[in-house]
Amino acid sequence: MRIAVVTLFPAMIREALAHGVVGRAVERGVLKVECFDPREHATDMHRTVDDRSYGGGPGMVLKVEPLRSALRDALAALPPGSRRVYLGADGRKFDQGMAREARDGAGLVLVAGRYEGVDERFIESETDEQWSIGDYVLSGGELPALVVIDAIARLIPGTLGSAESAVQESFSDGLVDWPHYTRPPNIFGLTVPKVLMSGDHAAISRWRLQQALGRTWLRRPELLERRGMNDEERALLEEFMIERATGTGRIEDSQR
Ligand code: SAM
Repeated sequence: MRIAVVTLFPAMIREALAHGVVGRAVERGVLKVECFDPREHATDMHRTVDDRSYGGGPGMVLKVEPLRSALRDALAALPPGSRRVYLGADGRKFDQGMAREARDGAGLVLVAGRYEGVDERFIESETDEQWSIGDYVLSGGELPALVVIDAIARLIPGTLGSAESAVQESFSDGLVDWPHYTRPPNIFGLTVPKVLMSGDHAAISRWRLQQALGRTWLRRPELLERRGMNDEERALLEEFMIERATGTGRIEDSQR
């Protein structure tokens, strides 16, 4: 998978990609990320990449030409058909499905804005889509680019070892993850659900599915509505709800 980032702060991207599982993916060559700095494409003496906003107001706006030129270089380094994405707070909300789609695509260019944003004409004429990582405003598109790259990288075969499979993670099946526990079995009086230590794999799978369904119902009901359930899952969720309402069983979630 090849990703290019158009950014005024390439060092931010490079540093962050040197660590953990994503760093390993880059090292192994299953993921290649290159940065393209618009400042290197500025043609004046001062390497100007921004200018005042037409109509007035605070904050500078990134100019079209250096961005466009950096984007052209980025596209030349990627396979044909690579998608051009501008990262902006008002874009389509990035999710696991979009990460999967991007992983299956030819390549991806992520354009990170700065300051007050980017000249709208660049976004309209040079990019295919706009992605947001959430309803809040950050100082630049570098952290969003890293979020997107990390989410995609986890889905590329070879990034995660077998011990860290992405198959059972939150959102992989339209549900959030079930709770996890590790040793010791009892800490400060807090115990591990017995079923997890029973060695009964069928019962463990059933418990995990039930917890994933219950937690999705509690925390992200809209996901459950979108996904739907089969009869077995519906029965498991009903049992979860009853145990929760009657205080039986072990359902530690007080968020609702
Ligand atoms: N004036 C813009 C607004 O109100 O939406 C904010 C610009 S922000 C300070 C600078 C850059 O950060 C943007 O051009 C965009 O690339 C990036 N950015 C900020 N928040 C983001 C978010 N939630 N998702 C994706 N990119 C974001």
